Amino acid sequence: MIVMKFGGTSVGSKEAIERTIGIVSGRLSDRPVVVVSAMSKVTDMLYALSDAIEAGDSAAADSALIALRQKHLEAAAELMPSDPLWREEAYSRINSILDTMQAFAKAQLACGAGMTSKEKAVINSKGEYLSSNMIYCYMNSIGIKTSWVDAREFMVTDNDYLQGIPDMAEIERRCPKVIDAAFARAQAVITQGFVCKTADGSEGVLGRGGSDYSASLIGMAIDAEKIEIWTDVDGVQSADPRRVTNTRRISRISFEEAAEMAAYGAKVLHPKTIEPAVAKNIPVLVLNSMNPEGQGTVILQSSFIEDGVRSVSSKEKLRVITISVPVLKDASSLLTRVFAVFAEARVKVDLVKVSPVDIMVTTDSVDYVPAAVAELEKFATVKVEDDLAQISVIGKNISELKIALKEASEQLRTSRLVSVAQNDTYVNISYVVPLATVRDDVQKIHTYLFGRE
Ligand code: ADP
Ligand code: ASP
Ligand code: MG
Repeated sequence: MIVMKFGGTSVGSKEAIERTIGIVSGRLSDRPVVVVSAMSKVTDMLYALSDAIEAGDSAAADSALIALRQKHLEAAAELMPSDPLWREEAYSRINSILDTMQAFAKAQLACGAGMTSKEKAVINSKGEYLSSNMIYCYMNSIGIKTSWVDAREFMVTDNDYLQGIPDMAEIERRCPKVIDAAFARAQAVITQGFVCKTADGSEGVLGRGGSDYSASLIGMAIDAEKIEIWTDVDGVQSADPRRVTNTRRISRISFEEAAEMAAYGAKVLHPKTIEPAVAKNIPVLVLNSMNPEGQGTVILQSSFIEDGVRSVSSKEKLRVITISVPVLKDASSLLTRVFAVFAEARVKVDLVKVSPVDIMVTTDSVDYVPAAVAELEKFATVKVEDDLAQISVIGKNISELKIALKEASEQLRTSRLVSVAQNDTYVNISYVVPLATVRDDVQKIHTYLFGRE
């Protein structure tokens, strides 16, 4: 079995879905488990719908629901113009999901109690149900015998409704049975990315961009031969091609380097995608559904990867928090105390630098920072700097590391080197730069490291 995950743009229109299912139809002998995202922009619309309901704005909620219904019904009509049976089936599934959403929105608006995160997850997860049902009908209409599976039968998490943490053991226990049963009567299986069921039995989601993570969890659970992440770029590139010119496709990259890139801002993969794949040593491929002949990127064990600089990634909207105490007598006890505060306030810390007088951390969990700062100020002096960004250069055994560091730093007008992490499998050199110059800075470093051609 293989897992084939298709992101929003790969299922974003009639043409995209036809192309995507064309790719799947050539792979039926591999027994594909197709994991789909919501059509592109749909999850954004759903988050906006949740906000509208929360704000009591029934006009905005109504128009969002109408737009969602129209988008999916139109796509279904275009996909199945001459198959009334499957087209009607698709209409009925789309309408039933939207009717439920409409009733839910109406009830929430009527009671005027806003939206808890549990209630938001009910709305935010519906994009994947809409797309997977519609594509299920389309696949069957063109003769691919396909089973539809509700990922909530096996994608179990903790009780965080909007950022569920998967229960790997439970997923491994449930998923193979569900998928095997679905294959008993079909050539392909389709299911949803992003969605999950929380431990208390509620509807949840894995967090934005989480469909990649779903695919990798399913791949791990069913011992897939490979996990294919089909997106809208020719594989993992040396930097974000939307922001940097002359990027290069990386043909092979290690699990560790890919995980570092994703954690340090490369949106092409959800940061947690790699973890389940590594657990079973399953290769992950990043491929372009707009260019299926392209070679994409293979992510595999570090021993197969040559040394060198692999990529430059960046994170915007970063905050730097510096925590100082008059005399840092015992760094470890201060660190323990500071990190307990961050954990409690749900501030996800990226980089840490400890000096004899202070601890500096970077974070992009902007919403939670004020609560953490109030707590830290009870025992330390705290400085918070906004409008910063982080640039990370990632590779493996970068020879001449010192020269690379010095020269890369010289490309930046104002920068602070915050960390150099190095082990057998990857090197990560990270800088903090002003938000105002980050785009220029990434381009400069990229041009310096990879040249213009
Ligand atoms: P999908 O909807 O298929 O999950 P995403 O938009 O989440 O697609 O991810 C693909 C996008 O990631 C690309 O269009 C690209 O702009 C961005 N991206 C950021 N960094 C990289 C990188 N290093 N290599 C490739 N793409 C990148
Ligand atoms: N549809 C979800 C999102 O847009 C999950 C995903 O596409 O990976 O965040
Ligand atoms: Mg994505």
